[in-house]
Amino acid sequence: CFITLEGGEGVGKTTNLAYLTQQLQAASIPWIATREPGGTPLAERIRDLLLANDGEKPHELTELLLMFAARAQHLEEVIKPALAAGTWVVCDRFTDATYAYQGRGRGQSESRIHQLEKLVQENLEPDLTFLLDMPVEAATARVAARGQQPDRFEQEHQAFFQRVREGYLNQALKNPLRFRVINADQSLEAVQKDLKEALIPSLLA
Ligand code: C5P
Ligand code: MG
Repeated sequence: CFITLEGGEGVGKTTNLAYLTQQLQAASIPWIATREPGGTPLAERIRDLLLANDGEKPHELTELLLMFAARAQHLEEVIKPALAAGTWVVCDRFTDATYAYQGRGRGQSESRIHQLEKLVQENLEPDLTFLLDMPVEAATARVAARGQQPDRFEQEHQAFFQRVREGYLNQALKNPLRFRVINADQSLEAVQKDLKEALIPSLLA
């Protein structure tokens, strides 16, 4: 089973990814957790290039191609071998993030992203995608409260994050069978209760 966790900045992906893997562990399911962009040494180097705040800013198309270059490496080296071995894969961001960030956020067309998706993934897509959704203002306040240096994406403006949120919700509308939209603007306990309820059918399948 291939599970992805998606959402904008500050929605709580990291905390809730740990919660999901705890649930798999408790159900004695073999799992790995990984992330995008990244997940292999080479793909993590591509991530560093993408997130860097200094130097030459990548063109929108370059950014898109680097995302899929990292994804191709991650799929071949980590995701496909794990799934073939019967190990569940829980991934922090995947191609829905590309539709949201490089698509709606940066203006790359859906058809261009779709072409790359077919090239890199063929027919592989997540079985289950959790979208942690909440209003942009509240999420941005959480990122600011972390007090860390923002990466190149986290420095973007509210309008960009608003488009990212809409891009994610659009992906959820277009793929209702695999998406579970979770309201991330509630207490952590309430978010995790929703996650668990949405995960149970997969655990029993
Ligand atoms: O998930 P995390 O916040 O660590 O991701 C690092 C950054 O990469 C994020 O700021 C996210 O906005 C960006 N990203 C992106 N397009 C993707 C995946 C991640 O712009 N397809
Ligand atoms: Mg981030």
